[in-house]
Amino acid sequence: MRTLRLVTSLAVAGLLAGAVAMIATPASAATVVFSVTNSWGSGYQGQVTVTNDTSAPISSWRVEFDLPAGTSISQSWNAQQVTSGNHYTFSNVSWNGTLGAGASTSFGFLVNGSGTPVNCTVNGNGVSCTGGTPPTTPPPPTTAPPTTPPPTTPPPTTPPPTTPPPTTPPPTTPPPTTGTPVQRYGQLRVCGTTMCDKNGARVQLRGVSSMWLNWETAPYAENLSALTWMRDNWNLQVIRAAMGVEPAGAYLSDPGRARAQVETIINNAVTAGVYVIVDWHAHEAQNNQSQAVAFFGDLARRYGHLPNVIWETWNEPLQLSWTGVIKPYHQAVVSAIRAADPDNIVVLGTPTWSQDVDAAAASPVSGTNLMYTLHFYSCTHGGSLRAKGDAAIRAGLALFVTEWGASNADGGLDGRACLPEAQSWIDWMKANGISWTAWKLDVGTDTTNLLSPGAPVTGGWNNYLHGHAPFVVANMR
Ligand code: MG
Repeated sequence: MRTLRLVTSLAVAGLLAGAVAMIATPASAATVVFSVTNSWGSGYQGQVTVTNDTSAPISSWRVEFDLPAGTSISQSWNAQQVTSGNHYTFSNVSWNGTLGAGASTSFGFLVNGSGTPVNCTVNGNGVSCTGGTPPTTPPPPTTAPPTTPPPTTPPPTTPPPTTPPPTTPPPTTPPPTTGTPVQRYGQLRVCGTTMCDKNGARVQLRGVSSMWLNWETAPYAENLSALTWMRDNWNLQVIRAAMGVEPAGAYLSDPGRARAQVETIINNAVTAGVYVIVDWHAHEAQNNQSQAVAFFGDLARRYGHLPNVIWETWNEPLQLSWTGVIKPYHQAVVSAIRAADPDNIVVLGTPTWSQDVDAAAASPVSGTNLMYTLHFYSCTHGGSLRAKGDAAIRAGLALFVTEWGASNADGGLDGRACLPEAQSWIDWMKANGISWTAWKLDVGTDTTNLLSPGAPVTGGWNNYLHGHAPFVVANMR
């Protein structure tokens, strides 16, 4: 296979702007620090860190502030936002309200305009974030209010600025270079339309998907030695366990075997310090919703406390109604997961083999730390599918490409690879901070079979790369 090197055209604009600190008095039970983490011509990204400065845990927090006229918040994350005119109230969400003594949490927002927060108070007790005393109620006026009628001059008709939101993502903070991926990034969460690590820095995970586990030619995905080899030689950060559901021999007909395969991969991922996607690899999951609810509920109870695990509830729905069929299924499965695991990321399949992310964007599933699946195969899919992705991102969705190949949509039965278009996709995913796992870790003749015959189960595959594997590996490193 020929190799291809193209210059990545990721444009990183905006430098870290200055920070403004607002420190509350000790009596407030919390301190609040506001900072600008990125800025551009028409706005900026802000972050507020709430710290419990007492010696006892607190179970909730609330931060309120005003923004000057002409400045507004267009989007926020990791807090419940209530807007009243230019007054903004941010309360904790379910998973970040409890803060132990000295513990901190952060929420963020995108701002149109250049004004920074004023009149900040914390925890509803009127204590200013800047440490001042609460404003006292002004005495009633001693003079009669003026009886002059209000001016009849109409308000200015200047339209609001139409500057579109910035398309350049916040710069990615260079990750620390020591430790396993999970040691470096920790508990992941959705921040805006991308994924952030434990410190709030954007992270783009890259890795591979297993073959349908019921059709693997050998247990490549279940081998710990192979997983650590991929981590250390390919810079793999995430592996996807594609647990077949519907075919003979898959989960529905042999649940014990399928579950054991998945749990082996989860346990190996914990040992290796990499992330693992638990994928309900189905096309018509709506027919087996109760089995999916039971499966994910059980695994969430036993593995949901681990930062390693990412849930994927339905690999590729067929051409089914999003609002009528797919979304209700996801809501049921997400509820089962959230009953036991309040925070790990859940990735949701979208209509038409996980292409119609625009349909999902028009009616997202309610909840936190939810992402949506986009799949591409570069001999079949190009700019028009990326345009769907762009539309979904503009609407606020966070995407995860849990499958892709530099091949036809059938995985490359003809053995052909389409690398220039695949490079366009790689560049697009990098520019948008979209994590990915490439299809698929197995020996075979398809373009997307990563391994060639004779590949040992235990890794050491530098001489066994097949099909699009050299391209995939080069882009993982
Ligand atoms: Mg969890």
